Amino acid sequence: MMRKAFQMELNEEDGKNLSQILSNMSTIYSTAQVCLQGQQCMELDPELTNIMANSRNYSQLVEVWEGWRKNVSRKIKPYYLQYLELMNEKAKLNDFSDAGQMWRNEYETEGFQEAMEGLYREIRPIYKLVHAYVRKRLREHYQIDPRGALPVCVLGDIWGRIKMCTQVTMDDLQVAHHELGHVQYFMQYAHLPLTYRDGANGGFHEAIGELVGAMMETPQHLNKVGLLPHPPSGPEMGVNHLMMAALQTVTTLPFHLVHDLWRWRVWRGEVEEDKYNEEFWKLMLEYAGVEPPVPRTDKDLDPPALFHVANNYDMIRYFTRTILQFQILEGLCRAAGHEGPLHTCDLHGSEEAGKVLASGLALGSSKPWPEVLKILTGSSNMSTRPLRQFFAPLEEWLKDKGLRDTGPRDTGPRDSGPRDNGQEGVGWGKDWRRLNDLINYGGVASAVTTTTATTTTITILLLFLLIVST
Ligand SMILES: [Zn+2]
Repeated sequence: MMRKAFQMELNEEDGKNLSQILSNMSTIYSTAQVCLQGQQCMELDPELTNIMANSRNYSQLVEVWEGWRKNVSRKIKPYYLQYLELMNEKAKLNDFSDAGQMWRNEYETEGFQEAMEGLYREIRPIYKLVHAYVRKRLREHYQIDPRGALPVCVLGDIWGRIKMCTQVTMDDLQVAHHELGHVQYFMQYAHLPLTYRDGANGGFHEAIGELVGAMMETPQHLNKVGLLPHPPSGPEMGVNHLMMAALQTVTTLPFHLVHDLWRWRVWRGEVEEDKYNEEFWKLMLEYAGVEPPVPRTDKDLDPPALFHVANNYDMIRYFTRTILQFQILEGLCRAAGHEGPLHTCDLHGSEEAGKVLASGLALGSSKPWPEVLKILTGSSNMSTRPLRQFFAPLEEWLKDKGLRDTGPRDTGPRDSGPRDNGQEGVGWGKDWRRLNDLINYGGVASAVTTTTATTTTITILLLFLLIVST
């Protein structure tokens, strides 16, 4: 399937209207503040982001999470509904069935949605294990059903965007490397005509950034550049590294997928307007195992609380980048002659890997992405196999911790409170009655309450970034 060129623009009035709507949504998002009880009003960055990352006070987390949606997505909602329609009109003018098909056009793949959902099903086992482990650790702080969905507000993020104000931290060092990955891509295709100076598809640029950022974090590399005094030894260091990598990558996959699955369904007309928010939370529960912490009202439309949705960006590029990141890593490690488990590969100083990488990146978007992928990895199909292979030792470790898939489970109505205290499982079931209490405006009290504040810091959970940005 070839990428179609866009030729037709909306008529003058609709075009102006769409630009104005996009500008209004962007302004609402970028100027929003949340005023907490008895405190001054706060902006997303850094105040609200800090609270979401560091507070263990459940009511405060809910207040920020809910306040953000009241001040952002609720205000955006009337514009967003018009935006959805105008985008569909624009798509139809260009012979697409709807705006979702127009966006997927970039990937030049028949059955793209089914292919992405297929990839998700393949990584679901490791996602569910990490989800179960995160829930187990969060239960040290909050009263959460040991086999239920997670309240989305306790995961360390409000859906921030990171503005780079660099500090001497591992996180910022990783981001700096990620950005250098982009720079390397820019340099490699700089010789091409302007129209081809881009990633092979939406996911490639981000995949290279993430790959370079992740390479920097391996204990092998940190030791080589003198940031880790001793060479890596013992299985524990390997598992810690894999857990950190999983919290940065595996955990993001369903969130990225859901935000586009939702938009694609809405644009195809498969969802009634008064069910938009309900459909979103159904997808979030089914794919990510999270639920809203407080009941939603008919004023709410939660997806535009996220920067990318409010600002007209697709999210599938972040889903594909994570799959591609591990595929490209495996291809380059093979070129470098790496032996041993994939997660111990360090490409630092490998000329062979550099040559393969450069030959793929230098093509920019001048060739269909499967050709570029073939150069980098030997295969022209997206595959989850390298990702699963990379995390296989972590998967085994989590199973050894007693986390085993216990099959689907009915989590019970929302007001029934936690069950099976102490008995950890994997997965979260799909009890729509419980979710319905939250999205059908029932006002049922939350089953989650704060436990006694504990001083234990579980830094690793702060890395559970729902949306890894930049
Ligand atoms: Zn990036």
